[in-house]
Order: sequence, then structure tokens, then C-alpha cells
Amino acid sequence: MPLDIVVGTQWGDEGKGRIVDLLAKQADIVARFNGGDNAGHTVTVFTEGSGSQTFKLHLIPSGVVHAHTSGILGSGMVVNPATFFAELDALLAAGVSIGPERLQISFAAHLITPAHRALDRAQEMARGSGQIGTTGRGIGPAYTDRAARRGLRLQDALDRSTFHEKMLAHVAAANQQLVALGVEPLDAQAVAKDYNDFAARLAPYISDTGLQAWLALKQGKAVLAEGAQGTLLDLDAGTYPFVTSSNPTAAGALLGLGLGAAPIRRVIGVTKAFQTRVGAGPFPTELEGEAATRLRGTGANPWDEFGTTTGRPRRVGWLDGVLLRYAVRLNGLTEIMMTKLDVLSGLEKIRICTAYRAGGVEYEQLPLGPADLSPFKPIYEELPGWQADLQSLHRWEDLPAAAQNYIRRVEQIAGVPIGQVSVGPERGQVVDVAA
Ligand code: GDP
Repeated sequence: MPLDIVVGTQWGDEGKGRIVDLLAKQADIVARFNGGDNAGHTVTVFTEGSGSQTFKLHLIPSGVVHAHTSGILGSGMVVNPATFFAELDALLAAGVSIGPERLQISFAAHLITPAHRALDRAQEMARGSGQIGTTGRGIGPAYTDRAARRGLRLQDALDRSTFHEKMLAHVAAANQQLVALGVEPLDAQAVAKDYNDFAARLAPYISDTGLQAWLALKQGKAVLAEGAQGTLLDLDAGTYPFVTSSNPTAAGALLGLGLGAAPIRRVIGVTKAFQTRVGAGPFPTELEGEAATRLRGTGANPWDEFGTTTGRPRRVGWLDGVLLRYAVRLNGLTEIMMTKLDVLSGLEKIRICTAYRAGGVEYEQLPLGPADLSPFKPIYEELPGWQADLQSLHRWEDLPAAAQNYIRRVEQIAGVPIGQVSVGPERGQVVDVAA
């Protein structure tokens, strides 16, 4: 019963998409379990005759580009039907054969509506200088409604005799909040009508996806769970309150799929060779100025560290071993896949934070989790860099000794093996780490 879970160990953007792409080859079911259309995996679709097309999937599991897989959007997700159908249409246009026969959404996932999106933007504006940096896609308000037990589940869309009234009541309630925030209310009838149309189109996609995954696992099939965002953005375990509204960690995968722990085979943490963060929140190993520009890139390469939708430069810094140990523990990682090692090429020295210091005491583990990191100063170890470009290297033996040394040191700090290291964005640019 092999369930493999892929999670980001940092603040998202670790390059999970390409690792999922590699692993999906051996999977029968690929599943998203948390978040909504606020995350994005870059996928490349190869079609005979028309070459390759690259685009972002924000909602549909990226592994569905492999024709032999089925996709699941699990119960831990919040689903904007407009995005769902836009992605479906984009996949169909790219020649990917996809429909309800190989894509299902959990009845227990929640709907995102235009009212959630309007509230998200209005609430973020109202926070003024204390903004969280939400994507404005309604994710937070949809999860708020879920927790307040007034949310709309996909299941609600199956009963058309009551759905219209539920939508009207939902928009009316949201409108009260919007008006209080000084924002124009929405046309409830128009929203309810659009969602009535969506409901008809969604119906064949809605089922108990947890049951399907469980039955598949019982038959010996392989399920791959793709996390969005990263461990340090977990609602409960992350750098609260600068977090997302869901649980992108391994425990979140189980609840967000409707499965228990027994089927787990591997929990794979995707770790960038350095650290990046979008938006506000603590970042102990953050770099400024020229050193930051060196890691971030100038924007000339597609992999440079700029927000995919906003174009805003990401905050960058050295790999943080204390936070990595935390991610290993919290997710129960069996292994790590390291990405973007090639970006470190050309540096004279590479630093890793191995511990924090506060009040004269050294900490290898976080005493109270990552929410308040302000008392801690990183303690760095300096390792020699390497000059060779790694992008054309495929074998462990070909990596410069300094690069091998860096990988080994990160393994030691994390306490789990690094299975593979990626050295470029393409499918083949991956090196197996010697055991
Ligand atoms: P995710 O949000 O964690 O899934 O990250 P993405 O899948 O969006 O990846 C971020 C970007 O980094 C994409 O442009 C990838 O092609 C690129 N990328 C991933 N791995 C590597 C790598 O090893 N080297 C380089 N140079 N780019 C990479």
C-alpha cells in the first residue's frame, strides 16, 4: 500500500513541481491535499508533433500530465471552480486527455466564491502595514468559513434544489462584511447563477476521493500526494501568523486526503539548496544587498527568484539547518530531494546555519517552534564553494568535491539521506546521490 507524500520543507517555491513530475511516473494516483489556487507548479507537457508546452497548474495536481495517472483534489482543499475549469480547458488544449474519468474532487472540499475573493482583498487592504501578503484568491476566507461551519462544500453543489438558496445566503453574509470594510457589495443573484452553472458542470467530478485512494492502495496501487506551499507556512506548525490557511505538512496530507497513516511508504521533503521567502515574516538567515542579488538572480533566467504572478523579488538567504531539522521532525521525512544546487555554483564560500544563539545559549532545535524567531541569531558554518557549472552533470562522481561535501553536510544536519539533487530545471538535470 504505497502512499508517498511530497512536502516543501521551507516557505514554498522549493521546486516541488519538478520532483512531483519525476515521481508521478511511478504513481497511479496523483493528489493535491491542501490549499487552493494560491500555489503553482510549473509543468511541461510534451505532445507529439507540437513539441513541449510549459504552464502553471494552480489547482489540478501537476502529475496528471502523465497520461497513465488519475488525479484527486482532496478534502483538505478549497476549490475555485472558475480556476478548475480554466486549467482543465488549458490541459485539453495542450492535448492532455482529461475529464471526470481520471480527475475527481472530494465532496468534502470547500468552494471558493467571488465573495471569498472580494473579502480576501478587502481584509488585506484593511490590515494596512500589517499585511500578511495573501494572494487575494479567497483562500483564507474560504477556510475561515470552513472553520466557522458556514462554508459551502462541493457536496452542496450536488443538491441543486438547495444550492441556489445557500449561495444567496452566503453572498448576503459576505456582503455585510464587505460593506463594513467600505467595499461595494456583490450582486448575489449573478454570483448564485454563475455557481448554478458551475454546479452542473462540476457534478460528474465530485465523489469520495478518500475512498477511491484507499481502495486503490488496497489493490497495491501507488498514490502520490503533492503538497503546495511549504512546512514553514503550515497554519499550525509554521511561522504563525505569517502562514497559509491550511496544513501543507505530512499530517495535513493524511487528513486532506481522507487516509490514515498506515499506507505511508515515503515522506519526501523538497529542500532548495538555499532559502527563499515571499512576503512578510521571520527569516533568520536572510541576506541583503549584493549577496542577496547573487542568490536571487537578476530575472534573466526563468528560475531566478521572482514571484511568478507578481514579479516581486523573493527574499533570499542561506540554508537554515535549524528550520530544516524542524521540517524533518514535523513531517517525519524519510528523505530529502535537494533542488537548485546549480544556483550556488561560482560562490567562493557557502554558508549553512547549523544552530541559533540567543542569550548566550546555542539551540540546534527550536525551543518553541518557528513563530517567534526574533531572539535568535544564526550560527554559520562556512564551506568551500565550487566554480564548475553543474547543469550538464548527471552523475554523483562528476560533481565537484565541494558540491558533494555540501550535500553530505546538509544530510548530516538534517539527519536523513538526500536521495537526489537537481542541477537545472529540465527533467534530465537530476543527480542520484551516492548512498
Ligand atoms: P514549487 O512551487 O515548489 O513547485 O516550485 P516550481 O515547480 O514552481 O519551481 C520553481 C522554479 O525553479 C521553476 O522555474 C523550475 O523550473 C525551477 N527549478 C526547479 N528545480 C531547479 C534546479 O534544480 N535548478 C534550476 N536552475 N531551476 C530549477
